[in-house]
Amino acid sequence: MHEVSIALNVLDIAIDNCRKSGYDRIESIRLKIGRAAGIMPDALVFAFDAVKTDTLAEKATIIIDHAPVGGSCNTCKKNFVSEETYVLCCPECGSNSFRINSGRELEIIDIEVV
Ligand SMILES: [Zn+2]
Repeated sequence: MHEVSIALNVLDIAIDNCRKSGYDRIESIRLKIGRAAGIMPDALVFAFDAVKTDTLAEKATIIIDHAPVGGSCNTCKKNFVSEETYVLCCPECGSNSFRINSGRELEIIDIEVV
C-alpha cells in the first residue's frame, strides 16, 4: 500500500514546515491530488490517521482537492479535461491517440498551523 509512504512523506514535510515557522501544532493539511495520480484518497486519509499519532500533526485533518485529468488530442488537436480516473479516449472525438498533460500531481497546497 503505497499510500502509507505518501502519508509519511506528507507528514514529514508538514512537520518540517510547522517547526520552521515556529509553531507546534498542525491543524490541517490541504492536498491536491490528480485523478490520474493512482492514489486512493480514502486510503491516504486512513494511512495518514495511522502515522500522525504522537506527532505535531496528531489532531490534523487532511483536506483533499481533486484535480481533473487534462490532456490534448493528437487527432482533433483539442485540449480536454476529464473527471474520470482513467481516460481511455479523447472525449471530443473518441480517438485513442492523446497525451495526458495534468492530473498526475500530488501537491501540498496549504498547511494550517497554530
Ligand atoms: Zn480528439
